[in-house]
Amino acid sequence: MERLEALRQHLKNENLPAILVTNPVNVAYLSGFTGTAGVLLITEKQAYLLTDFRYLEQAGQQAAGFTVVDAAGDIWEKAAKTLGDVPALAVESDHLTVDTYGKLAQAFGKTQLKAIISPLRCLRQIKSAQEIRAIKAAAALADQAFVHILPLIKPGVRERDLALELEFFMRRQSAEGLAFPIIVASGYRSAMPHGTASDKVIAEGEAVVLDFGCIVDGYCSDMTRTVFVGKVTARQRTVYEAVLAAQKTALAYLQPGISGRQADSLARDVLKEYGLAEYFGHGLGHGVGREVHEEPRLSPLSDDMLQSGMVVTVEPGVYLQQEFGVRIEDLVVITDDGICNLTAGSKELLCL
Ligand code: ZN
Ligand code: ZN
Repeated sequence: MERLEALRQHLKNENLPAILVTNPVNVAYLSGFTGTAGVLLITEKQAYLLTDFRYLEQAGQQAAGFTVVDAAGDIWEKAAKTLGDVPALAVESDHLTVDTYGKLAQAFGKTQLKAIISPLRCLRQIKSAQEIRAIKAAAALADQAFVHILPLIKPGVRERDLALELEFFMRRQSAEGLAFPIIVASGYRSAMPHGTASDKVIAEGEAVVLDFGCIVDGYCSDMTRTVFVGKVTARQRTVYEAVLAAQKTALAYLQPGISGRQADSLARDVLKEYGLAEYFGHGLGHGVGREVHEEPRLSPLSDDMLQSGMVVTVEPGVYLQQEFGVRIEDLVVITDDGICNLTAGSKELLCL
């Protein structure tokens, strides 16, 4: 109910009498309901969950504190009827399609629709102890998967098979699913920041970037390690050391009160000293929660302010086209005086 109260406070500040929550991630966050069809209608006093016949029982069990409404027929007509005579209704502009917006405008008639970036985006940034526990469990499982996969990384093995093994391992334990399609990128492919596993066979002397995470109790984890198969070249070693130094510096100074931009520059400045900053083409990190990419953002463009209770990744990388790439990613909780690192996997340079 705390989440509902925080949302109501936000609506009050914005002078909005009600909101329609359509993004299923936000629906689950607020109500606990995890069905694939359901929307929330929240007013100053009421909280409704509208869903259909398939989910009525589940809704009753999961969404304590919500009045479950059977939305047989046209769900938007039903929502309008449930809301009644209210002058304005906030809708989530960052989720609604143009098509649905048109239908809503028709169904709600006189009620003025206010399309706003969902306030839940902001509210979801600070995690509760329970949320952090789930993320921690998902991170621990990914760590175990990394230990499991190491002996299997060798010349002749396909990227795809390593990705499948990581997935099987995590799902066989307690993962509900993958946080995102697993990245296993070797050799020249490791220079692609998002090289999802392919049929490519791993060869001697190559870098292998493994980026993966799973979902536990509805929450994601996200980690990356880069290992080398056989001997490392001096250049591979230097790049690895630079990325690791950049990451360690960021981890040492991340704390509440610094901006996403400042956080990013902690790592970027180290890569500058190595003459590698131009090959770090993405931001330092992102929030992780019910979604693997959520607020806040740690990047040169981000004004987000770090606060205690946020969970973010710290993932500097260097990508040398046609050669190789290195990325190292940990998942951390921002605490009152710094961070708590949830990723335990070794970061020493590994030659397998
Ligand atoms: Zn990742
Ligand atoms: Zn990430």
